[in-house]
Amino acid sequence: MTAATFTLVFLVALALSLAAKLWLARRQIRFVAAHRAEVPPAFADRIALAAHQKAADYTVARTRFGIAETAVETVLLLALTLGGGLAALVAWTGSLGFPSLVQDLALIVAVALIAGAVGLPFSYVNTFGIEAKFGFNRTTRRTWLADIAKGVAVSAALGLPLAALILWLMGAMGTYWWLWAWAAWVAFQFLVLALYPTVIAPLFNKFSPLPEGPARSVIEALLARCGFANKGLFVMDGSRRSSHGNAFFTGFGRAKRIVFFDTLLARLAPDEVEAVLAHELGHFRLHHVLKRMVWSATLAIFFLAVLAALAAAPWFYEGLGVPAAPERPGVALILFFLALPVFTFMLGPLSSLYSRRHEFEADAFAAQNASARSLAHALVKLYEDNASTLTPDPIYSAVYDSHPPAALRIARLSTS
Ligand SMILES: [Zn+2]
Repeated sequence: MTAATFTLVFLVALALSLAAKLWLARRQIRFVAAHRAEVPPAFADRIALAAHQKAADYTVARTRFGIAETAVETVLLLALTLGGGLAALVAWTGSLGFPSLVQDLALIVAVALIAGAVGLPFSYVNTFGIEAKFGFNRTTRRTWLADIAKGVAVSAALGLPLAALILWLMGAMGTYWWLWAWAAWVAFQFLVLALYPTVIAPLFNKFSPLPEGPARSVIEALLARCGFANKGLFVMDGSRRSSHGNAFFTGFGRAKRIVFFDTLLARLAPDEVEAVLAHELGHFRLHHVLKRMVWSATLAIFFLAVLAALAAAPWFYEGLGVPAAPERPGVALILFFLALPVFTFMLGPLSSLYSRRHEFEADAFAAQNASARSLAHALVKLYEDNASTLTPDPIYSAVYDSHPPAALRIARLSTS
């Protein structure tokens, strides 16, 4: 392939993915607006018209915001690649007189800082504009800033050693460096998983043991019934930042924890908390977490092999606006991660489909081990509290949604 051909391939893929995103966003906005006037009949007795309309307005506002974000991301991508931004950064970091590994690390840090700086205003407007307007935000500007500082520190502490290791492997391990890099990446995933519950998450939130009470009793009974060793039940002060509610598992092996947002416990009755936890247990029992990890490890080895081939091809660099620099592995690494999403956008629906199948399976598990009725009640409350639309555009939902639309989930639960 020539550099000019690859530039054309890149631009066509970018234009197609952009057109698809805009088309989907427009569909979603129109569909939600068209169903704004009336609560869907299946929910009419439990959701008020005002809540339904709030969900519609929130969905439209977020979708519009997403369009603006996509536009700016596209401009940044073009500025860095064909616009010559990355070429300038490569030349600048190359002129500093550092060893090549340090030059490449400096390049990665520079690109990460630029992308982070471009993303900051969006994070600000999302939190203090949209989330605040719809009454969800509880973050102060101080907490928001502290979160960013901590996020940068954690990314640097974990990401820089990983980047240095991968760059070193790329330079030192010859043709099959990507197998070594893959092993390093998998080990890194486990490290983060092990550190997350006890080291990373407590930097951002307070975790306290779930207090004694009716909720704790039903939860312990459910865990015993499902043969699940109780390694720790925690409440997280999610209400410090947002009124959105959730429950999740973190860690693995001995470090496994079950975490409930305080906002979820405040809103749901004990039988509903039990049903939500049964759904989460279903994900574990049915090995969804393991399957996801195997799937992402498989994708990673495939993408690393592709990266290894591209890093040796001058047209890959030149086609994306950077002079070929096979002696600087960091350049290939950054170009690859910048250009990859343009080509993998069409994989999104497959991943969403896979995820939605797991959600149905976990719902069925919950229906068997707790109460389908309670889970349906909990879902209605969570959809209402999170202002998730009950009437998403079917095609938009098929492409993006990791969870099936509420109406489908509840319809399945009511027949189980
Ligand atoms: Zn789930």
